[in-house]
Amino acid sequence: MAENDKTLNFIEEIIEEDIRNNRNNGRVHTRFPPEPNGYLHIGHAKSICLNFGLALKYNGKCNLRFDDTNPVTEDIEYVESIKEDIRWLGFDWEDREFYASDYFDQLYQWAVKLIKNGKAYVDEASAEEISELRGVPTQPGKESPYRNRSIEENLDLFERMRNGEFPDGTKVLRAKIDMSSPNMHMRDPVLYRIKHAHHHRTGNKWCIYPMYDWAHGQSDYIEGITHSICTLEFEVHRPLYDWCLDQIVEGNYRPRQIEFARLNIDYMVMSKRRLLQLVNEGYVSGWDDPRMPTISGLRRRGYTPEAIRNFAETVGVAKRENTIEHSLLEYCVREHLNKIALRRMVVLNPVKVIIDNYPEGQVEMLESENNPEDPAAGSRTIPFSRELFIERDDFMEDAPKKFFRLTPGQEVRLKNAYIIKCTGVVKDPANGTIREIHCTYDPETRSGMQGANRKVKSTIHWVSSHHAIDAEVRIYDRLFLKADPDDVEEGKNWLSNLNPDSLKIIMAKAEPHLLKDDRNNKFQFLRLGYFCFDKDSSGEKLIFNRTVSLKDEWAKIAAKS
Ligand code: ATP
Ligand code: MG
Repeated sequence: MAENDKTLNFIEEIIEEDIRNNRNNGRVHTRFPPEPNGYLHIGHAKSICLNFGLALKYNGKCNLRFDDTNPVTEDIEYVESIKEDIRWLGFDWEDREFYASDYFDQLYQWAVKLIKNGKAYVDEASAEEISELRGVPTQPGKESPYRNRSIEENLDLFERMRNGEFPDGTKVLRAKIDMSSPNMHMRDPVLYRIKHAHHHRTGNKWCIYPMYDWAHGQSDYIEGITHSICTLEFEVHRPLYDWCLDQIVEGNYRPRQIEFARLNIDYMVMSKRRLLQLVNEGYVSGWDDPRMPTISGLRRRGYTPEAIRNFAETVGVAKRENTIEHSLLEYCVREHLNKIALRRMVVLNPVKVIIDNYPEGQVEMLESENNPEDPAAGSRTIPFSRELFIERDDFMEDAPKKFFRLTPGQEVRLKNAYIIKCTGVVKDPANGTIREIHCTYDPETRSGMQGANRKVKSTIHWVSSHHAIDAEVRIYDRLFLKADPDDVEEGKNWLSNLNPDSLKIIMAKAEPHLLKDDRNNKFQFLRLGYFCFDKDSSGEKLIFNRTVSLKDEWAKIAAKS
């Protein structure tokens, strides 16, 4: 579909209208404004794709702005991880890496200007008193006794707040707007609070810090942002966003705030506070645990930037809260991995097969294509020999009629190799488990031979037992058992919905080529799913993460129940 055939989303409509009206000289300048108090998650990825995507589409720019106004929870580790994640997603802020903290001086001066204009005052009421007086939406609030101090007194107190004369929580600077506004955010919102805390960039220079409402729109203005896109919960802040700008704007340029619905995905939690709790309390191994919805977790899990960008595009932007199915995200991942993943053979639950009529000691190197979806991916060779491993599940001794895989008397094709026929089994006398499956092979059925196309009902994967390498395979499942992790019984919390089987570790037998493969490659282990190397792999110690199963296994479960 050509770009202009697509219907515009509502944000694009607003932007195109602004361009038509030559608003802000037709410029489009967005920003992605993370607070560096955690790692980015898939919801942030959505916002990144949206903000950087709009800039690309309309020949504009997108800034990276760290919204670092709360020194207590913020950290340089988060700053670094955020930059890495945005780059990995494929976006570039060029030299426009900004920090709200760089504007603290300007924000302070503007606050002084507000006071001088009689639009702000220092309040000494406690947080409880302030909230008490603010009242409820259906009734007007009450004015603070400090509301009508003189401008001189306010200027003096605000300066002394800044100079560190007062302890935390004893004073705030409030905008003087309207204590009877139906919008609670307009009832003299707090603009500055006292916090004697070390800031990761400004050190101990400041002991008063601006609130979001005073920092955000003003930062947009400083940076020349035209469209300040945020999530729906800020819709009620918009009148305040505009009020704050009214106090400082000069000339024609002015940013505007646009809200869209945040991304929610079922079976996931997305609040940074909860993700931090999962990390701190050891429910996962870290921010990049492959079960986390963080960008670093998804990356380690084997998701690709292309898949995430495509997902963001597919879900689009909505004006109303909604929840996207996790299976859509996995669908996007499979779709991309199918195109790029190298096909390899790995046996997760091995049982030995012995081909009695195959010469002992003989090894054939069989040519196998790397990816049928991509001829350019070429081929590799895999060793074939008399003793192999196949999946235990691919054999049944007393099979029902519809079982087309290996069973006594029945033929199957070994992928990229020969057709074999089962002749019998050897069992462990102690417990009856099968130790060896005996077979014969048809030497005319290899690729390039006359029997190569002989049809049998199924094809199974295998590895040569002498050549196989041991590999650890980590099979991940959803971190939560319920679509809505908050759906809990009385007295329990969301943590009670954690899936106890979200990680299974398996020792598998893998084809030897994987030792030579680039550790950044993506793989499809035939018939098993998509996999990637985990970063814990080293030297000959191979560890794989299952990125996603080949098919949506949860859909099957849902269909059965
Ligand atoms: P939390 O609610 O967990 O504190 P946050 O939304 O406050 O997270 P920020 O670092 O402030 O986290 O977010 C940076 C940007 O990403 C903001 O513009 C925010 O609106 C956007 N964003 C955060 N979560 C989502 C989400 N789930 N879907 C879309 N955008 C999101
Ligand atoms: Mg926020």
